[in-house]
Amino acid sequence: MTALFDNIVGQHLAVSLLTRALEQGASHAYLFTGPPGVGKSEAALDFAAGLACGDQGCATCSTCRRVLEGLHPDVEVVAPEGNFIRKEEITEINLHAAYRPYEARAKVYVFLEADSFNAEAANAFLKTLEEPPGHVHFILVTDRPERMLPTIASRCQPVAFASVPAPALAADLVRRYGLAEADARLTARVSGGNLSYARELVTSDGARRERNLLLDMARDIPGASLMDTQVALDDLMASVEARAAEQASGADAELEQALEWAGDARTKAWLKKRHEEKIKRRQRRAHTQGLRTVTRVFSGWYRDLALVAAGAGAAVLNQDRLDDLQRLADPKALQAYTNAISAVGKAEERLRYNVDARLTIGDMFFSIKEALIQWPMS
Ligand SMILES: [Zn+2]
Repeated sequence: MTALFDNIVGQHLAVSLLTRALEQGASHAYLFTGPPGVGKSEAALDFAAGLACGDQGCATCSTCRRVLEGLHPDVEVVAPEGNFIRKEEITEINLHAAYRPYEARAKVYVFLEADSFNAEAANAFLKTLEEPPGHVHFILVTDRPERMLPTIASRCQPVAFASVPAPALAADLVRRYGLAEADARLTARVSGGNLSYARELVTSDGARRERNLLLDMARDIPGASLMDTQVALDDLMASVEARAAEQASGADAELEQALEWAGDARTKAWLKKRHEEKIKRRQRRAHTQGLRTVTRVFSGWYRDLALVAAGAGAAVLNQDRLDDLQRLADPKALQAYTNAISAVGKAEERLRYNVDARLTIGDMFFSIKEALIQWPMS
């Protein structure tokens, strides 16, 4: 039988907090924080279902199922379209929030990347957050709580998510996908506690191919010619785009299924619009996460090289690449590896501000090459 929060792994503290809130009465605003890919957005939808459902979140009724699909009229998911959540959007939410729920027990607004309110939007939101209508709940989700306005954060109940412990992650991969123990342990390790990346690696050929591509690039950059580097950059960007495009596959079938819930033409039109927004949001998210995967795999590789160079091979993330790592790691290059990791960190920071991705990654390649060139890697 399905239960709420079944899809969340290794987050006992957060899940018990939320379960208790559903049993004993929930606050008006929650702030979900924690590293990317550990299940915060999924948990937000689970919790929203619990708040909206007449049965504290049975996970099976039509209300629950529609909330979990992101297609319930009383549960709205808000995410920035560009860099920011804008004031116009908040003004509309303030207006709508005042009305009673359409059919559920409560109205819920889930804000993804809640650190991206611009100043006007934050001010407009504060008024509603201070005195929300009784039937309204807000769930704010962010992996960068340090960028939240304190006035907003302080009015929310904090719910902290943590990196998924490797053993819990591996056990989940065995249970959910029937993976062999050794494969599950390797995948859990490689993903560094990022649940959604681990699941992607299990379920998507594209994700596995991309990981290999990225690791090869990270390995070969120091010796690569300018032309090789350009080709690598093209391959990498194409791979990120392709993986984002994958998110639209199956969208038509999903919509068809969703339309079964719709009675009249007006509801059908509404569902269609909501569904399109959802797919767009998913693609945007896949694109952002794709770029994050690039930087994560790159910094993981140089971190692994540094670990092997320092004689700590057992701590390596990419255990399946241990041979390569042992062949290449040079104890004299420890500082160079650290510089390469820091170049990746800089690129990651720039990518968060939606700067030109191709240019940023090109610069990253260059800085890595510069950091490592004194130590021939192959
Ligand atoms: Zn339900």
